[in-house]
Amino acid sequence: MFNALSVDVEDWFQVGAFENVISRDSWDARECRVERNTDALLAMFDEAQIKATFFTLGWVAERYPGLMRRIVDAGHELGNHGCNHDRVFNFTPAQFAADLDRSRKTIEDTGGAIVKGYRAPSFSINKNTPWAHEIMAEQGYVYSSSINPIAHDHYGDPDAPRGPHDAGDLVGRGGDARQRRSNCMRQSDGARLRPHSAAGNSAADQLVNIGRCALQQ
Ligand SMILES: [Zn+2]
Repeated sequence: MFNALSVDVEDWFQVGAFENVISRDSWDARECRVERNTDALLAMFDEAQIKATFFTLGWVAERYPGLMRRIVDAGHELGNHGCNHDRVFNFTPAQFAADLDRSRKTIEDTGGAIVKGYRAPSFSINKNTPWAHEIMAEQGYVYSSSINPIAHDHYGDPDAPRGPHDAGDLVGRGGDARQRRSNCMRQSDGARLRPHSAAGNSAADQLVNIGRCALQQ
């Protein structure tokens, strides 16, 4: 059995449960705890000598670039968790593509590492978003940890496979995009962007394999 550990890097006022209680406009005036709490996790993981995947909001990466570097420098994986924790099923496909692209660039620029995985805020990829994994494949993502295979009042798809699985006919198309992106990075950002080295470091829960062979990496 393969065990993987993952963390959502977001602040207390950004979680879906508060979306009707705490307005987006008030975020910047709230006490931010994400940096010190994530640093505490980094210390704990270091002591236990374990590596994790940190799915991070673009909002957090923009404000705490030093934290992004510390996550990468400690040998963990940075993943994308969207810009502002908006649920995917509330986006149009074009809005989702823009959010996915913008947040990835912010996380990669601040962390200095390639982002290859995505976790939808509040696991908001389901049967109503059949376009989501295709857009991820077009943008070169390797895997998605976005579908919770359970019945839940906020999210989930109880019919989804309970283990890692392929995103159907998208397999292969993502590989092309990924190759293009990785070539492009090698040419323009090779010195700055580092691929994640750790095999078995990716979040394995709710994994959907977008690119061919991604799970064997
Ligand atoms: Zn989250």
